[in-house]
Amino acid sequence: MASPCDATSLEAAAPPTAVPAAPVSAGAGPLLFPKPAGVGLGPAPTAPAPPAPAPGSRATPPLRHLPLVTLYLTDRCNSRCTTCDYWRHGRTDISLESVRRLLPGLREAGTRIVLISGGEPLLHPDWESIAGLLRSQGMRVWLLTAGLALAKHARKVAGVFDDVTVSLDGTHAATYAAIRGLEAFDKVCEGIRAAADAGVPVRLRTTVQRANFEELPDFVPLAHRLQARQISFLAVDVANPHAFARQEAFSSDLALRPGDLPVLDRLLRDLERRHSEDFRAGFIAESPAKLRRLLQYFTAVCGQGPFPPVRCNAPEFSAVIGVNGQLQPCFFIPGPAAARTQGLDLLEKVNSPELLDLRDSIRLGKRRECVTCVCSLWREPGVGLRA
Ligand code: SF4
Ligand code: SF4
Repeated sequence: MASPCDATSLEAAAPPTAVPAAPVSAGAGPLLFPKPAGVGLGPAPTAPAPPAPAPGSRATPPLRHLPLVTLYLTDRCNSRCTTCDYWRHGRTDISLESVRRLLPGLREAGTRIVLISGGEPLLHPDWESIAGLLRSQGMRVWLLTAGLALAKHARKVAGVFDDVTVSLDGTHAATYAAIRGLEAFDKVCEGIRAAADAGVPVRLRTTVQRANFEELPDFVPLAHRLQARQISFLAVDVANPHAFARQEAFSSDLALRPGDLPVLDRLLRDLERRHSEDFRAGFIAESPAKLRRLLQYFTAVCGQGPFPPVRCNAPEFSAVIGVNGQLQPCFFIPGPAAARTQGLDLLEKVNSPELLDLRDSIRLGKRRECVTCVCSLWREPGVGLRA
């Protein structure tokens, strides 16, 4: 699948009054929290926590709507990303019948957009039927994929998905292979072109990390050549073990080092200067100011400053549903074991005491994951999203 959240492009793609957003990828996973050697977690959050609620009341009310849902079809994957453990441990697919049982719950929750993720969703034998089922309910269905099978399935993908986001972490074969663990750059590029030719809007998502940050300005012309609709950039997450089902210590080489920071600073300035029209047109999903958060994030990871301020209410309008019906408030934070939906009980389970408590703790700034989050999302009612 693609790497986490694609808020800006979701915002751009959704109807003005729809509620767009969010995350991507995952499944459950036993969790260590290895702080990578040499990687500082930096000072604490800079966004102020809201005031504590009155005794006996909650910081967040029960949810009546879930306009955005991320649904993991499988925790299997055919990529070999260095940042992720899905491909090592994934075994499970959601059943078509489970998705059928989910439909009344999604309807009751007023779900407008379903992000189809994983693992690699195109490995699921019934991905086409599942997307078709969701779409038949009037939902907008958005595929998040690593793109290895996109060339093969481009026409079918265009037939059942409204949007596609493809992870592309290199501008040439060597970088792609170093990050994704496969010699598949050309194949993925072929898939992106094929899907675009088949008529579905294709967006690219690049996870910025040490192995590719020097290519940053080259991604934009590549995205144009591949006929992508948009490209967005996200910092690699080096702090959260739940994202990407990490079970083993992962390499601190993913993050930039102190000596890399001035280079990134210069590259971001170059990008802003050379691609002002791409920013203005929204072809680069983030604003220049938002892209500069990449520098602040990696500066913080190097222990040289605070993490960028985080403002996020994603768990208050969206949820993640794992292959076994397990509910999570967002991509990065695991849900309580008891929060597992059978379908019709979706809102009931989303409003279980355990998940209400969890959302309260997130809202009150008590979750460490939020401090270092690389894809926080904020939605003003009726306005869309800001990350
Ligand atoms: S191995 Fe790569 S493509 Fe597959 S789930 Fe992990 S991050 Fe996504
Ligand atoms: S800021 Fe917190 S609640 Fe929001 S997506 Fe990140 S980890 Fe989840």
